[in-house]
Order: sequence, then C-alpha cells, then structure tokens
Amino acid sequence: MFEFTKVSDECIKCGKCIPTCTIHQISPDEVTSPRGFIELLGDYQKGELELDKTAKDIFESCFLCTNCVDVCPNSLPTDMVIEEVRADIAKKFGIAWYKRAFFWLLRNRWAMDLFNKLGYVFHSCALKKEERGRGLLAKFDLPMIKKDRLLPSMKSVSFLNKYKERLNSGDKPKVAIFIGCLANYNYTEIGDSLVQILQELDYEIFIPKKQLCCGAPAYFTGDFDTVEYLTKKNIEYFESFIDKVEAIIIPEATCSAMIKHDWEVFFENRKMPEWRDRAARLNQKIFMATEWLYNHTELPKLLEQKGKKLPQSVTYHDACHARKVQGIWAEPRALLKKSYELREMEDPNRCCGFGGVTIQTEKFHLAQAAGKPKAAMIERSGADIVAAECSACRVQISNSLYQNGVDTIFKNPVELIAEALKEN
Ligand code: SF4
Ligand code: SF4
Repeated sequence: MFEFTKVSDECIKCGKCIPTCTIHQISPDEVTSPRGFIELLGDYQKGELELDKTAKDIFESCFLCTNCVDVCPNSLPTDMVIEEVRADIAKKFGIAWYKRAFFWLLRNRWAMDLFNKLGYVFHSCALKKEERGRGLLAKFDLPMIKKDRLLPSMKSVSFLNKYKERLNSGDKPKVAIFIGCLANYNYTEIGDSLVQILQELDYEIFIPKKQLCCGAPAYFTGDFDTVEYLTKKNIEYFESFIDKVEAIIIPEATCSAMIKHDWEVFFENRKMPEWRDRAARLNQKIFMATEWLYNHTELPKLLEQKGKKLPQSVTYHDACHARKVQGIWAEPRALLKKSYELREMEDPNRCCGFGGVTIQTEKFHLAQAAGKPKAAMIERSGADIVAAECSACRVQISNSLYQNGVDTIFKNPVELIAEALKEN
C-alpha cells in the first residue's frame, strides 16, 4: 500500500484548500474536500476505514484539478494520493468493462485506428450532422452516450495517419510532435495548425508514428498496469530519437503534464528509479506547444511582422494541467494578444470540471454542476472564442456551453495562432 500517512501527518488542517476545491464547491461536506480526503486516507492506512462502496464513491468524486495543491502551505499532493488510492479501488472492485475496453484500445494503436474509422462511419450514419449522443448510439447503454450531450466527432483520418513521418526536411532544426489522443482522432485541426506554424518557422517536423497515449486516462482511473505499459513503451521510443530533435512539443496540457510530471511521480511511487530517471532525462526536451513556441522560436516576431489582426475577441481558460501543474499561463496569452483582443473571464483558473473518465461517465452530474459556472463566466466575458490548450477542457467546456445555451466557440490557441498566420 502507498504510504498515505506520510501525507496525512503533514496536513496541518488549516483549511486553506477547502474554498478552492472543485468537488467541495458542488458538495460542501468535509468528506468531499482535500482535507477530508487526506484524513480518510490516513484512516485507511491505519486500518480505521474500510475501502467500501461509500469510500470508493468519495474518492472517485475528486476532479484531480490540483487547486488544493496550489494553495496548500505544505504543497500536499492530494491529487496524487487520490490517484494512488484509485489503484487500490480498481484492484478491489475491478474496472468497468467499457473503461477496460477503452484502455485496451489506448494500448493498441491499430485497434484504436480501426475503432476510429468505424466510429467515423457509424457516427456519420447514425447522427447525421449533430454531434449529440442520439440515434443508434443511444441504444447502447454507455454512460458517455447521454441524450442531449455534445460529444466530439471522429475524423475519417487521424492526425498521425494523415502526414508523412518527416515534413519540410532539409538542413534545418528539427522538432517532434506528440499529439495526444483527442487531437489525433477528434480535433485534428490542432495538429494541422501546429504543422502550419512550424513550417512557417522553417523547422523540419518529425511526426513519431509509434507514439502511444501518454497514459493519463488510465492513471486517473487507477489502471496502473496500462500506465506502466504505455509509459515504458513511450520512453523507449522517445529515447530512440530524442538526441536528433530540439524538442518534443505537445499542444495538450494534460498529456504534457502527464509526461513531464506524472511519469516521474508514477515510477518514484512504484520504486522504479531507473525508469524515473529515464523519464526525467527526456523531460528537458519536452514542452507544451505554446510555451516552446513563445520562448524558443521566432514566432512572437513572426506574428508581429506577418500576423493578421483579427476582429474576434478571445477569453483564455487556464487548464489545470497547464497553469497549476506546469506554471504555463503567460505564454499563450502573449501569443494570442498579438492578433486578438483578449478579454479575461472572472476566474480563468477555475476548473472546467472535466475530471477524468469516471466523472465523464458514471458521475457526469458532477461534471455538469462544475461546468455551469464556467460557461456563465465565459458568457459574461463577452468574448467570441474561448481558448485553452487542452482537449479534455474542450470536451467539457464545449458541452457546458451547449447545455447552458452559450454561443461562444472553443479553439485551441495553436489553431488561433495558425489562423493569424494564414495568407488571405
Ligand atoms: S484535486 Fe481538486 S477536486 Fe480534488 S481535492 Fe483537490 S481541489 Fe478538490
Ligand atoms: S491546505 Fe494543505 S495543510 Fe491545509 S488543510 Fe488543506 S491539505 Fe491540509
């Protein structure tokens, strides 16, 4: 068992974390608060709390948003200890069949490609133009497929299958793209835009075809066998080309935080120092896309010289895994400001309420409750577009906007930057 008391003994019970907690804002009870979770985990380790269905329900209600970590005077990693106890929950209660099926697809790229193709055809036939969980899909009792819920559509060809492995080759600096599953299969415009920007900057682009999922969905659900499989495969693969590229860039906050932060934590907690160190070595060359584009390329200058001033206004949502886990918030704003009017929403740091696979399926009512205030503050900002470098936020915010009747559209900042660089 993970040593939960190491964390619970350090909690000074100050309560600073409580007002910031996403689940506590929805369910204002001490047991559904960071301080409460930590206390219960200490009791669990001491044998004073049984991991029964009630405890499972409590620990699965955390959104893993890291708001609590950000404000805690002792920086206690509540999200990480919740991830650890979810592995114990998975061992005791098993993992629902549709989650296991999904994680199996994540481990097998060929099968996910096939699923995507079938999904594209099926979705097109069953749902026509609407991106809603209706029609034939609704006949399958899958928790993701709820009536009147906005879901991202599948693309006929994934990003990784659309492009050659090397683009814009020549005697140029080279950069690799790690795309993330949602941008690979659903929001392929993000990868297209990143390719366009890198070509404008005259980089050789390497698209590593054997990349697998970063492991985040399985990590947040407690399927640690899948996490170990995916991380090790990816580490071995990245090591085969890391010396030949300047950077591996990722236009996705969750994937980038998983790779830069959680891979090391995962191996440290499993007492696998060799793999932890291998992950740490790769880290120096792994960046979230806007961070790298702003700090390491001529993109800011290029936008000033060549970028269009566009009439739309943008409000920027700070994805939890960008601002709180990686400290990235200024760079995307600085890039967007060159071409768009920026209108800050009241609390850009407030979690959108995505929460992971379990909250998006079995506990979707919590995602809806957390999404409503976010949709309202986006509407009040008066912006035409809401931007965040995270496709999990995109799934959640797009649905919250739709369900709350807000017209604002969602874009990844990479798409908006590419738009500003496009020839008329
Ligand atoms: S990670 Fe977020 S939802 Fe979970 S305890 Fe911390 S603040 Fe609350
Ligand atoms: S802020 Fe940190 S130390 Fe204070 S109650 Fe919350 S978890 Fe405990």
